[in-house]
Amino acid sequence: MTHVITRACCNDAACVVACPVDCIRPTPEDPDYLSAEMLYIDPESCIDCGACVDVCPVGAISVDYDLAPEFARYEEVNARYFSGDEMPPPDPPTAPWQPTNRVGESLRVAVIGTGPAACYAAAELLSLRGVDVGVDMYERLLTPYGLVRFGVAPDHQDTKQMTDGFWRTLRRQGVRTFFGIDVGRDVTHGQLQERYHAVVYAVGASDGRSLGIDGEDLAGALTAADLVAWYNGHPDGPRQVELRGDRAVVVGNGNVALDVARFLLGDVGALRATDLADAALDARAASSIGEVVILGRRGPEHAAFTFKELIELADTPGFDVVVEAPEGVLDAAIDRTTGPMARMKLEFLQEVSARPATAARRVIFRFGVSPSSILGERSVRGVELSTADGGDVESLTCGMVIQSIGYRGRQLPDLPYDASSGSVPHVAGAVTGIEPGTYVTGWIKRGPQGVIGTNKRCARETVRTLLAHWEEGRLAQSSTADDAWADQVGAMGLEGWMRIDEHERSAGREAGRPRVKLTDPEQLADVATARRLQTSH
Ligand code: NAP
Repeated sequence: MTHVITRACCNDAACVVACPVDCIRPTPEDPDYLSAEMLYIDPESCIDCGACVDVCPVGAISVDYDLAPEFARYEEVNARYFSGDEMPPPDPPTAPWQPTNRVGESLRVAVIGTGPAACYAAAELLSLRGVDVGVDMYERLLTPYGLVRFGVAPDHQDTKQMTDGFWRTLRRQGVRTFFGIDVGRDVTHGQLQERYHAVVYAVGASDGRSLGIDGEDLAGALTAADLVAWYNGHPDGPRQVELRGDRAVVVGNGNVALDVARFLLGDVGALRATDLADAALDARAASSIGEVVILGRRGPEHAAFTFKELIELADTPGFDVVVEAPEGVLDAAIDRTTGPMARMKLEFLQEVSARPATAARRVIFRFGVSPSSILGERSVRGVELSTADGGDVESLTCGMVIQSIGYRGRQLPDLPYDASSGSVPHVAGAVTGIEPGTYVTGWIKRGPQGVIGTNKRCARETVRTLLAHWEEGRLAQSSTADDAWADQVGAMGLEGWMRIDEHERSAGREAGRPRVKLTDPEQLADVATARRLQTSH
């Protein structure tokens, strides 16, 4: 008997801390933690105490005999991680921070954002002992949770359970929330600097990257960032997206590309049981897209999707997964690959490609090709593809081209910006090129990579740097972010979100869904301020 970690793993490593026999790897201190697709339990060392099950925020851990059928493969996945070279013993966990010369003092920090990176940073600050910590969280929107609400795929409701922990942080004593405040527009960085010991930006990376090829402005051509914002009901996302034609081409083969493929081809009945935005649900019900072609510019061994997302894609009912590659390409890729997990992913891709076709719809993986232009007059009618060496060129008919080649952070007023990476330059979270006191965490710090729990370790590093600066006396000596300041900002507090949340959940209960999302900014404001309730009485 052993415990097994499955698909929803968020890498937040709460299980690592809880495990009494150190059988879960990689730990946040291990060199491969940042690139790890998930965490794994060593079946040889697991003592089946279940301590990890109790602390997992997304319910991703089961005992082997209780594994749901769709997760049966994960027993082998967990074991395979430990089958490579002998594992070095885990590094000791980082010791909790102890204030040395500032015991009993107050530390006031402004955190910008309320997504995972922001909530982990706030929780890290509030975990300090012997210091009176106050955290003010500024959120541009009227809803919290950033990427969990607007980025995580609607059919990943298990991952969205992470909001339970983030909610506890937002409600903690010592935390004030300022919703509907755009830092840079409603309050300036300078105003925050004057009032807090430190300002931590955790604003993510929300803009989709694109190739800059001809045809990107045609109807039917968009970035995955826009498509995801639309189907997740982001108030700043496109109001309308038409799902055009019979075939969609997705450029890039990361996990977002796979999310997009499941959205475009997955069973509409199953999507109805999620919090997918209503407009996207209607569009899906009317869509005639039957084929999604996912393009990787390099070979299969460089595919950016993770193994667990591939397993999910291959097991999603309603469509087949096909690998369209010349004979021998997968075999050669497997031969070139050495790590046990990377090999396992390719072997599974090969297994999937040998499955007989059973469905009318299909996802096709192609490798070694990239679009050179998008074809059409007003709307997309195809894409011109070329091989990596610029050699072969072919045209592929399609009604949509979705570029899923990663995200970029936006430039923030008064902060330095590295345009090549779309992030803020920093050293261990401290923004460089300006006075100490400004920090970054999450995707705006390290770029768009890693899963939600990766932000926990990232936040810890940033907070440690901030504390070191505080102890060295390099931060402002006092804070004036008092009640008068809060009144001056005049933001919506947590009660606005509580009204939105209750409104959405109650609509969801009636419709048999987790929630029915409000997507219109005016409607969100009406519900948050109870304007509609007041006028209807
Ligand atoms: P990603 O994993 O970085 O994948 C980007 C893809 O775009 C890669 O295939 C990349 O190919 C390709 N690409 C980049 N530049 C290109 C170019 N100029 N021409 C052609 N192709 C290009 O990005 P993502 O899918 O947006 O995901 C972002 C992060 O979120 C990742 O860490 C991902 O794992 C995470 N995420 C996780 C989940 C989940 O756990 N369920 C879901 C969604 C996202 P190359 O490799 O050749 O550069």
